[in-house]
Amino acid sequence: MCGKVGVIKKLDNDVINRIAAGEVIQRPVNALKELIENSLDAKSTNIQITIKNGGLKLLQIQDNGTGIRKEDFEIICERFTTSKLTEFEDLQKIATFGFRGEALASISHVAHLSITSKTKMDICAYQAEYNDGKLKGQPKPLAGNQGTVITVEDLFYNMTVRKQALRTPSEEYQKIYDLVTKYAIHNPTVGFALKKHTSSNDLRTPINSNHIENVRLIYGNTIASGLIEFHIENKDLEFNLKGYITNVNYSHKKYQFFLFINNRLVDCQGLKKSIDAIYQTYLPKNNHPFVYLSLELNSYNVDVNVHPTKHEVNFLNEAEIIESITTALEEKLLGSNSARIFYTQA
Ligand code: ADP
Ligand code: MG
Repeated sequence: MCGKVGVIKKLDNDVINRIAAGEVIQRPVNALKELIENSLDAKSTNIQITIKNGGLKLLQIQDNGTGIRKEDFEIICERFTTSKLTEFEDLQKIATFGFRGEALASISHVAHLSITSKTKMDICAYQAEYNDGKLKGQPKPLAGNQGTVITVEDLFYNMTVRKQALRTPSEEYQKIYDLVTKYAIHNPTVGFALKKHTSSNDLRTPINSNHIENVRLIYGNTIASGLIEFHIENKDLEFNLKGYITNVNYSHKKYQFFLFINNRLVDCQGLKKSIDAIYQTYLPKNNHPFVYLSLELNSYNVDVNVHPTKHEVNFLNEAEIIESITTALEEKLLGSNSARIFYTQA
């Protein structure tokens, strides 16, 4: 055979970085999730989000957290820079949401990124722009309150195919809305606001609210008044689960299920399906519950880095943990069911 042999060339660094970034940030909602988690890590109590064109034109998040030190502006958007991790071992211990120092770097490779931030120590805020992981010019001093404003403009301006593959701005906005509602329910002490550029808030939760009140605000009274608290602690399997689930009097065609593992919104199809299956005994055919769960696992038992968007996680003893949760759920529902019978007979 005498075919032409291909010449192997190394890709340009910028291209490599853009490909990697495109895996982390697949659509506007992925970028926003990272930014919300950064704001929460920075202990913010107020997070305001502004969106234009489904997040493709503008995605802005303002918080009142710790802020970023001026000295850190230089390297903050380089890949694998983080204030949350110093050694590989820390990856296991980390209690914060971010851990790879990749989010801001990735965003800067696929969008125009600007950061304004002020710490408690600084007398003024600083503002800087970033491109492909690098700071453009010097941070400029300006007036501002403590906290950080991250502005992401023209997402995927350099990835035409990606941009075309995305859904309509209103569908991207819907994904963003869903994400913010879930983080708002999970973090009721933090006030969240979400709006489209030039319109009023589509969502606003108060600071120091609680889970049920936020569910009421977002999903309405029918779900909120049907909620029961669900709590299990299992020392052998090293997990702690807290959440709110609807009792058997509530049912809906749409299955609402969301799960946080160690405060990170993740998918877990196994748990989602098993819980729905338990409810099937109690609910009318093709109807489903509302389920919000917060699962705390020993972080040594979780591997968050199986997927670039960190959307799916692997954890040890998954089958046993799911089994233990569904058994407890069944008991809980039986309890709420007998309460209903008693109530209707009374
Ligand atoms: P990671 O969150 O994994 O550390 P990121 O790229 O998301 O990586 O962020 C890099 C660093 O920027 C963080 O470690 C943090 O120090 C800082 N940072 C990012 N966003 C904020 C924010 N909203 N408030 C304060 N610091 C922030
Ligand atoms: Mg982060």
